[in-house]
Amino acid sequence: MVVSRVDIVEALSTLRAPDGTLLVEHSATEIQITADHVVVSIAIEAADAQSWEPVRLAAEQTIAEVPGVAKALVALTSQRKSAPNVPAKRALPKPTDGVPPPRFPNLAKIKRIIAVASGKGGVGKSTTACNLALSLRAQGLSVGVLDADIYGPSMPKLFNLKGRPTVIAGRTLSPLEAYGCKVMSIGFVVDADKALVWRGPMVASAITQMLRDIAWGPLDVLIVDMPPGTGDAQMTLAQQAPLAGAIIVSTPQDLALIDARRGVEMFRAAGVGVPILGLIENMSYFICDECGKRHEIFAHGGARAEAAKLGVPFLGEIPLDSLIRERSDSGMPIVIADPDSPQAHAYRDIAVKVMAGFQ
Ligand code: ADP
Repeated sequence: MVVSRVDIVEALSTLRAPDGTLLVEHSATEIQITADHVVVSIAIEAADAQSWEPVRLAAEQTIAEVPGVAKALVALTSQRKSAPNVPAKRALPKPTDGVPPPRFPNLAKIKRIIAVASGKGGVGKSTTACNLALSLRAQGLSVGVLDADIYGPSMPKLFNLKGRPTVIAGRTLSPLEAYGCKVMSIGFVVDADKALVWRGPMVASAITQMLRDIAWGPLDVLIVDMPPGTGDAQMTLAQQAPLAGAIIVSTPQDLALIDARRGVEMFRAAGVGVPILGLIENMSYFICDECGKRHEIFAHGGARAEAAKLGVPFLGEIPLDSLIRERSDSGMPIVIADPDSPQAHAYRDIAVKVMAGFQ
């Protein structure tokens, strides 16, 4: 469900400022909506902060109850006095005012954009993102995958896609399609070794283009395979894409978990505070082909404990399994190739938990 500014203004229309005037007529109230996150800032005099606090709380609760809102944040900001001839801030629009265009119109019909991230490379983030997307598709959702892993795009291989996106109009591209998912990857348009030598500004502009220029159409979910790590490219994405939430993939070793913690912190710090939908432990345990026994090579369970420590949900465990790698390498991921296998079930269980987080 798309949250509109009109819904928010309507919900707030009965609340009053401490001086008895209507909050929506308070001239320094601003609303920002990114997907299902609503951030309202109310500029006040610092000295009035105490009397405004109950209004702030009431506004936050009211917005949180608006259908479709996943996160509501109301902040009181104290502004410096404006110079005499600087016009006062615009009053809030009335419920009848039009809804402003979103920052990236091509993302407007996507209900939720979910980032799949990892603190470092090689933990199986792309494999997880791909199988998770396909599992969400198998649940009947319309799904897109944006491969934003600029330095090592994996989706062309995972989805066995080799073509080039067609230009629809001007600079707008249409995504490719495989196994019922729409897929866009920088790998469709740039040689992987060329992208490797890109510098910061080029990476940032490639990411902006991917958010701006792909005609996704309506989607229930867009899964974004983030670049690994927590550098500039990751921050650009976390700040520019209207993310509904982020999933962090980690292996159970301590070192990988330190990186996972950094990943969680990046989303928490990225500006609007992207909610962490949970942690996934990949390569969690190994089931021997020969003896069928489960071997816990890396003291499995570290990610579950880390999730509890960080106060984020734990979404599940994926085994270290040669079939997962082989199916990925052959361009037919395991949830498509062997949908009844225990490995495919592990991905599907996670997809169900992710969907439960949508409610
Ligand atoms: P990342 O995106 O984190 O760099 P990838 O998804 O590209 O990692 O995975 C790195 C390698 O590990 C790939 O060869 C992939 O097939 C393999 N891999 C990922 N997850 C598993 C798993 N659960 N079991 C076995 N191999 C895996």
